[in-house]
Amino acid sequence: MRFTFWRFLTLIPAAVVGAVLVAALPALAADDAAPAKIAVLIIDGQNNHKWQDTTPAIKEMLGKTGRFTVDVATTPEKKAAKEAWDKFRPDFAKYGAVLMNYNGDNWPDEVNKSFEKYMTNGGGLVFYHAGVFAFADWKAFNDMMGMGWRKANQGMRLTIDADGKEVRTPSGEGPASGHGPAHPFGIDVRDPKHPVMEGLPAKFMHVKDELYHGMRGPLTGMHILATAFSDKKSGGTGTNEPMVWTVPVGKGKVFVTLLGHDVAATTAPSSAVLISRGLEWAATGKVTLSVPEGLETENPKH
Ligand code: ZN
Repeated sequence: MRFTFWRFLTLIPAAVVGAVLVAALPALAADDAAPAKIAVLIIDGQNNHKWQDTTPAIKEMLGKTGRFTVDVATTPEKKAAKEAWDKFRPDFAKYGAVLMNYNGDNWPDEVNKSFEKYMTNGGGLVFYHAGVFAFADWKAFNDMMGMGWRKANQGMRLTIDADGKEVRTPSGEGPASGHGPAHPFGIDVRDPKHPVMEGLPAKFMHVKDELYHGMRGPLTGMHILATAFSDKKSGGTGTNEPMVWTVPVGKGKVFVTLLGHDVAATTAPSSAVLISRGLEWAATGKVTLSVPEGLETENPKH
């Protein structure tokens, strides 16, 4: 009798056929289904802001998009013993992007090195609001951030003048980082073609929040996506301060948004859209999340 292929098939135990089919199914499903979820790691544990409130709010906000899975790595408390820090070893490589909701004590050198490696190998990093206070003495970290909350002599300042031109102020000249009293303010999109900003109104209103000014740093590879006019009447600087920018780090991507002092200012559509799309872009280089409805383009009543 000829030994045909079909005859051969009948000799394969059914269990093996089943196992092969099951193994093939996820691959088949992945072709048609929504893109795989992006694994995000929020780092918190120390912050001069209420990270205990904002981390769960961000987790919920990201969960609602259906685009992310979120883990949280909480550091030991301030001035914790070395033994406590020995247990803080985030496995960065498991994540598409890391969200910095942390500023505080230095991480162990081993963690810093593994984080630098993660970023140069193609990691994603999103700073939001007070995340830019972190690690003024860590050079590679300052390079990732481009600029952040620093003293006037801790780096250059970058603003945009009334004609839309970038103005660089040397270290030691002009204001240190600061902000006036919290108030609602407008966000001006400076690069409408960037995937994160595409489809957003050219100007949209943000809710009551701190308008940071005088950010400082090495300005390495900074690309400004949006600014806010820092009005002297609101305790500001009288110029356009960068609010949103990107920095390339090796094969990795950094996205910074300065919005989000508290839960309301973090989860407002004007801020949520930047954090969510920023995470997606930092992790994949692309944005699929749509622009939320209800972004105010008029100046609301103060
Ligand atoms: Zn704040």
